[in-house]
Amino acid sequence: MSVKERYDIVIIGGGIAGVSAALSCANRGKSAAVIANGAETSSLYKAERITNYPGVSAASGREISELLLRQLEDSGAELIRGRALSVIPLGDSFGVAAGSEFCSCSAVILAPGITREKLYPGEGEFLGRGVSYCATCDGMLYRGRTVAVIGGGSEAAQDADFLESIGCTVLRMTKALRYEIRGGLKADTVLAGGEEYKVDGVFVIKDTVSVTKLVPGLAYADGAIVTDRQMRTNIPGVFAAGDCTGKPYQLAKAAGEGNVAALSACAYIDERKKEN
Ligand SMILES: Cc1cc2nc3c(=O)[nH]c(=O)nc-3n(C[C@H](O)[C@H](O)[C@H](O)COP(=O)(O)OP(=O)(O)OC[C@H]3O[C@@H](n4cnc5c(N)ncnc54)[C@H](O)[C@@H]3O)c2cc1C
Repeated sequence: MSVKERYDIVIIGGGIAGVSAALSCANRGKSAAVIANGAETSSLYKAERITNYPGVSAASGREISELLLRQLEDSGAELIRGRALSVIPLGDSFGVAAGSEFCSCSAVILAPGITREKLYPGEGEFLGRGVSYCATCDGMLYRGRTVAVIGGGSEAAQDADFLESIGCTVLRMTKALRYEIRGGLKADTVLAGGEEYKVDGVFVIKDTVSVTKLVPGLAYADGAIVTDRQMRTNIPGVFAAGDCTGKPYQLAKAAGEGNVAALSACAYIDERKKEN
């Protein structure tokens, strides 16, 4: 695992909320890294025509996404491509794991959009007990053993290739409509399309990780991260912005919240510096 330098702020999600937050962090002179799946995974990218975003007349979501990406690249924030897997409190800082990267930072802004994918039955229960979200992190534990890789995207295919390259027997599970993970102390069985498969481990590779799994202890209610008007969550140093904080699911709200979350995160860091 490669350890990156310490940033002031790590932003999870490269949609409009995350990019807006990164631009405001840069304006405030804070170092920021944005951990982001590909732009094509954002809600904006899927929008055919945007007509209600001030200053932009009738552009496609894809066009605006491309502009955002360019603006992010020019902002001075570091773009780390990949999926953030966990946010770990480290006393006065946080560690954020993303594939083979590990970043530390003073504050975190969550901007992952909304997760429409539900957990598979057994996924949450066996996470860390035979279920993993990261082949790079945990693959070696299963060397010479049989694992299932559940997921249809390119990352799932790459992870399956990697696991095979280190000597795992890999069951690639892309087609079934429903999966269920079962076991005793550890996950040992996957049910897929009515068939039962015996496995030693299960890698679930989706574009997103549910925010309550990403940040243990995060207050979450009615399908949204709970925040105050400064976009502070219940965890000091963790802020949230965009669709992940609830309705309305609109670009203007997401961009505005990204800006507020960044200013609040900068103020939080400055306050902590004064105290120490
Ligand atoms: C079809 C459609 C049409 C729409 N039309 C309009 C419209 O006309 N007007 C309007 O105002 N709004 C519209 N919206 C809503 C608008 O697109 C969203 O409100 C806005 O994009 C939300 O921005 P966001 O940054 O919060 O989330 P997103 O745009 O979803 O971006 C979040 C990003 O974070 C990534 N991510 C998630 N988890 C992780 C992780 N663990 N690690 C790394 N990256 C992660 C996601 O993959 C995604 O790329 C539309 C949405 C859709 C789906």
